[in-house]
Amino acid sequence: IRNRVIKAEKLQAVEQMGAAISHEIRNPLAAASGFVQLLKEAELPPVKREIYLSLVRDELDAAEKVIRDYLTFAKPAIEKQDDFSVIEEVEHVIRVVQPLANQNSVEIATFFTGSGCLRGDRQKFHQVFINVLKNAVEAMPGGGYLTIRVTSNRSDISVIVTDTGMGMTKEQVERLGEPYYSTKGKRGTGLGMMVVYSIVRAMDGTIKVNSEVGKGTTFYFKFPEAASE
Ligand code: ADP
Ligand code: MG
Repeated sequence: IRNRVIKAEKLQAVEQMGAAISHEIRNPLAAASGFVQLLKEAELPPVKREIYLSLVRDELDAAEKVIRDYLTFAKPAIEKQDDFSVIEEVEHVIRVVQPLANQNSVEIATFFTGSGCLRGDRQKFHQVFINVLKNAVEAMPGGGYLTIRVTSNRSDISVIVTDTGMGMTKEQVERLGEPYYSTKGKRGTGLGMMVVYSIVRAMDGTIKVNSEVGKGTTFYFKFPEAASE
């Protein structure tokens, strides 16, 4: 029963976040729609037209960014629980992020010294590592190395992500996961890490961060291995 209560609370937290997210998407869409309305004006001077069009584009970009960070939460709250291989899913995520890494001259290396299965929603697992790897690449604007390790012991599986990027101060590390906390100005949403923390918590996992300004960052994720029969 205790387990079921915890589960219900977790689901509730996820649902509340879903509501917050759709709000985040609705705002820029409503704004874009407002500018489209203005564009319908018959005698609109070309300069104004340009301004409205670029505002529409900005708002659509904003909505798109939120969706990218939140993707899995936009889906129905029904959790799809199944067992999946950590290595297979990590490899999947790397394929998704590879083009972005290439664009930024970031070299990806993987070290799989352990393996195992997790129980949970693999879509959400993807979202965690898409957000983390994206941040890592974005922390290396001049290129660098992104290393992903998977290790395991009898009871849990670790995924360790290291970048050689700009790093974070202690204060920045402490604020990770805080909604809207971003150092990227208009290019950031500050929602990615919040999604990461909430999904990992729901999977009974833990996150540790080690970071040094100018040197890089390592994220340590640990998940309890799915019980095998
Ligand atoms: P966003 O990426 O939209 O800014 P996130 O929630 O994904 O929002 O990340 C929040 C902030 O955490 C980032 O703006 C950045 O300052 C910091 N951060 C996250 N990952 C890293 C990293 N690997 N290296 C340096 N800073 C990071
Ligand atoms: Mg991010």
